[in-house]
Amino acid sequence: PVRVRFAPSPTGALHIGGVRTALYNYLFAKKEEGTFVLRIEDTDQARYVQGAEEYIMQSLEWLGIVPDESPIHGGEFGPYRQSERKHIYRQYAEQLVKSGHAYYAFDTPQELDAMRKRLEAAKSKNPTYNAITRKDMTNSFTLSPEEVQKRLESGEPYVIRVKIPHREEVRFNDVIRGWVMVHGSTLDDKVIMKGDGMPTYHLANVVDDYLMKITQVIRGEEWLPSLPLHVLLYQFLGWEADMPQFAHLPLLLNPPGKEGKLSKRQADNLGVPVFPMPWADPEKGETYLNFNQAGFLPEALLNFLALLGWSPGNNQEMFDISQLEKDFDLTKITKAGIKFDYDKACWFNEEYIKQRKPEELVPLMLEVLKANGIAVDSIDAEKALQIVQLFQSRVTLIPDFWDKLEPSGKRLPQGKVLFVSPTEYDEKTARKKWTGEAADVVDTYKEHLTNLDNWVADDIKTTLEAILTSKGVKIGKVMPAVRLAVTGLSKGADLMATMEIIGKEETIKRLENALN
Ligand code: GLU
Repeated sequence: PVRVRFAPSPTGALHIGGVRTALYNYLFAKKEEGTFVLRIEDTDQARYVQGAEEYIMQSLEWLGIVPDESPIHGGEFGPYRQSERKHIYRQYAEQLVKSGHAYYAFDTPQELDAMRKRLEAAKSKNPTYNAITRKDMTNSFTLSPEEVQKRLESGEPYVIRVKIPHREEVRFNDVIRGWVMVHGSTLDDKVIMKGDGMPTYHLANVVDDYLMKITQVIRGEEWLPSLPLHVLLYQFLGWEADMPQFAHLPLLLNPPGKEGKLSKRQADNLGVPVFPMPWADPEKGETYLNFNQAGFLPEALLNFLALLGWSPGNNQEMFDISQLEKDFDLTKITKAGIKFDYDKACWFNEEYIKQRKPEELVPLMLEVLKANGIAVDSIDAEKALQIVQLFQSRVTLIPDFWDKLEPSGKRLPQGKVLFVSPTEYDEKTARKKWTGEAADVVDTYKEHLTNLDNWVADDIKTTLEAILTSKGVKIGKVMPAVRLAVTGLSKGADLMATMEIIGKEETIKRLENALN
């Protein structure tokens, strides 16, 4: 049975690349009717961020990527937090030492530093650890077992390093990248166990994938350079037959050219997390944009992310999660890096907002009004629904229910016009459309509306039409003036529906203000 895992380190925010990795693992598990495991890789205490683990789980939950096994869901291969598995790893490091595939190294920080400097000075293209305890670069140690034992007993600080066969080639097959060959001479004797008894990522990762019976490792391409070492560890531990398949996902790239305003905005978004970060303190000015607060719907973000590296092989773009679960195919993932296109993400969001039932958008819309200082308690359910329906087709991101960023960089008021009467009027429209004739109609309109009892869009409209017929004026000559008087703008959502929501008293007041 297929078992895959998402194995984040709780060192900070979950960015778009991480979410895509989680999503692809999840989809693959669903497709193959397998199990999706969430494992927290928290062995690096120095980089641990308080709250990051909860944050990762909340982000995944918001997106609907729910693990079958995890620190909170449990499972028969737990614990799922590496810090709680500390006792497991040492035996494997010692097994490797015993079988001659790893060794104790006693380099002091000063020695390591000096080595780094020498390599830098020599402009080494491949600055690897130079294995002082293996000076002859053969498989024989220069430190005898007795010497090692003596140093250990005297309490000298040490690490355990893997012993790379420097004269051999490591070959492996990656589902996405095909055969990869790496020569041992280019690899480093990496630390697998630190002096404090904590394993490094490499050892813990391989041991846990083995013990948790992981069948496919799907992760970002940034881990491909670590794969030769991982393959060697499987061999050295005698687990080659159970080695998972590997699939390294293509890199996500910033769009080219960071000069322009738009591309700068896009470029920044690769680093944008999906969810508010609990450890950020807004009172200290630590407010960061994230996809959740930027106003994305989870299903739109999922659809967008699914296509960042995978394609169904036809032109279909809209996939809901259940269809993705059926269609997703690991062999259809591309090798080439994928440009992250923020505007495309926005396009998906717009589409999904159009598809949502208006009732479902009401709470999100009210949230936006509230954030803009509107007392939402006084808005009844029917009116809230009307507001959603008025703007639903004009909203890209949820905050657009208030006002919307235009390509010009200006913000076009949307829901704002319902609550804030105009203090200024669009100049060009005023100059061109506020004619004597238009002002005359607006004046009459205001009188007639005062006598209108049934304040609904249809009647508000027929009232205007009757005036236009009797005065013999065309509607196109007057509408821009009416809109200008009511909203101060040259364009916007359906005007009669807007007036209905604004209400009789306030609408008439606005017409009066414009006439004065
Ligand atoms: N803990 C690693 C990370 O933070 C996991 C890499 C892997 O999937 O092997 O990305």
